[in-house]
Amino acid sequence: MNLNEIKGKLPAGSMITKILFEGSDIVLYTKNRNFFVESSQEVRDLVQLLRKRIDIRPDVAICEKQDVAAAKIRKIAPTEAEVGEILFEPEFSRVIIYAKKPGLIIGKQGQTLKEIKGETCWSPVIKRIPLIESKIVDKAREIIHSESKYRQRFLNRIGEQIRMDKGSKEGWVRVSFLGSAREVGRSAILLQTKRSRVLLDCGVNVASVADRHPFLEAPEFDIEDLDAVIISHAHLDHAGFLPYLYEYGYDGPTYLTAPTRDIMILQQLDYIKTMQNETGGAPYTSKGIKSAVKHSIIMDYGHVADITADMRLTFHNAGHILGSAISHIHIGEGLHNLVYTGDLKYGKSRLFDPASMNFQRCESLIMESTYGGMTAKMPSKYESEKKFISIIKDTIKRGGKVVVPSFAVGRAQELMIFFAELADKKLIDVPVYLDGMIWDVTAIHTTYPEFLSRDLQKQIFHYSNNPFVNKIFKRVASPAERKKVIEGGPAIIITTSGMVTGGPIMEYLRCLADDEKNTLVFVGYQAEGTLGRSIQMGWRNLPMPSRNASDTRSTIRMKMQVETASGFGAHSDRAQLTNYVSRLKSRPERVILNHGEARSIVDFGRNLHKMFKIETQFPHNLDALRLK
Ligand SMILES: [Zn+2]
Ligand SMILES: [Zn+2]
Repeated sequence: MNLNEIKGKLPAGSMITKILFEGSDIVLYTKNRNFFVESSQEVRDLVQLLRKRIDIRPDVAICEKQDVAAAKIRKIAPTEAEVGEILFEPEFSRVIIYAKKPGLIIGKQGQTLKEIKGETCWSPVIKRIPLIESKIVDKAREIIHSESKYRQRFLNRIGEQIRMDKGSKEGWVRVSFLGSAREVGRSAILLQTKRSRVLLDCGVNVASVADRHPFLEAPEFDIEDLDAVIISHAHLDHAGFLPYLYEYGYDGPTYLTAPTRDIMILQQLDYIKTMQNETGGAPYTSKGIKSAVKHSIIMDYGHVADITADMRLTFHNAGHILGSAISHIHIGEGLHNLVYTGDLKYGKSRLFDPASMNFQRCESLIMESTYGGMTAKMPSKYESEKKFISIIKDTIKRGGKVVVPSFAVGRAQELMIFFAELADKKLIDVPVYLDGMIWDVTAIHTTYPEFLSRDLQKQIFHYSNNPFVNKIFKRVASPAERKKVIEGGPAIIITTSGMVTGGPIMEYLRCLADDEKNTLVFVGYQAEGTLGRSIQMGWRNLPMPSRNASDTRSTIRMKMQVETASGFGAHSDRAQLTNYVSRLKSRPERVILNHGEARSIVDFGRNLHKMFKIETQFPHNLDALRLK
């Protein structure tokens, strides 16, 4: 159905002045105030028929003057909603309303929102003001807002390219592994059909120098031909190379969730800074990061979007980190259904509900297998937590400090909720210091609480108990503050980097390692070659990079206690991965394993094949597999 035919199906008198595609959505501009405010049956029928979202916006000619509209909004919105800034985007006839409690502006059954629409004739979009202020969230929002003219043209262009022609049931589907095959790192998979080319993730391998970047030189890959990129989540091994594409000519869309976009910016900025410091150069600049944000198309879980002429994408919760998504891609008119898990947690954590598995159809499954290996068995959560509590109690009792090196995203917040629970139960009463990027990432968690587990949301919204702002947490934001913490009394310190490869953890070790009262607790995997691994292996004299030229001390003596408390991980273990395959609503014909070490992938794949009698593949990098 083309745009004119759609117009023909609308009620008489709807006074449509403009109708266009915006990304996957159809947008109608109207001069009829009633048609804008009240949703009509005809439009609902069209949504059903086209399986597309239809957004009705007022023609800018009937929009109230901006200052008058803003005043009306402030009057209509209840005070408890705590309205902040109000911004206008005339290109989209849209008003962005920032509020501490967005739910109150929407009102019961959307009543308040409807009143705002009727009174102002602007199309309202409500955004949450986070409990913890975040420069990154502000920056991302500012880029999107200041580029709204460009974004309008961009979204129209994408909309025109996608069109609604789904092609026939004939055709072929193929995936090429440009990274992440038989390795953990640089995830990048090219999905091709006769009509489109889509890249699933674009990551780097931070642990490798030689194999850091995906194989973009593969003959089937061409930046110019790329239709879309999908980013499963913000970790660098999935999103770390995305800005490179934009810096080298890509100007198409990247589909991701809002938290993924914001956390990704933090990680990428940190990555280029680290690369500059360590190697004197980075593969891209902040320009590429900004361009990626400018071209982002935000998707919520469950929202369906046509992303190319023959692909329809739906995101589902992956249970891994904030905003992490499993992609379900419907290709052609029922030609093929592919599920790409990205990183997956099929088990309960404090932060997220287990990964979703309700796919109507799934013929091919590409699944991560980080912990698919035989030996990878995680201790029970209960055991690890019990152990952790006793480590803390012992250390505090003898007047020491507990230092926990942690990744900034995911694990740190899981620990925070754990510590907040202990504080609520009065099991600990020492400050918990957060150093490195952890504070900023936590701020992003308070921006998007709707991505957290149902239990956690209940705790936050119904009982007004947000663990992230518990009073035990203190931010360490400068070297002077860090010095105070080091010289102060008993405390818990959560700090980056997770594998002791750099960051503020180095300073804590320099100052706290030679006191046996203190304890270092590992909560995550320590990769081979990292300082973390050496300490875990029992090394007691550690080579330490010097602070600056005048600092000559190059080794430190480890006298502090060293412990490991696992069970706070964001990946699935072998049993959980196996359960995931067995409980999928639609049993796949083929499982393709990636994102794991070669040996464990092969072993896990053979086991899956034996159990379920389904085709199991474990490709190498640069292998291409035909799915249909
Ligand atoms: Zn991940
Ligand atoms: Zn990963």
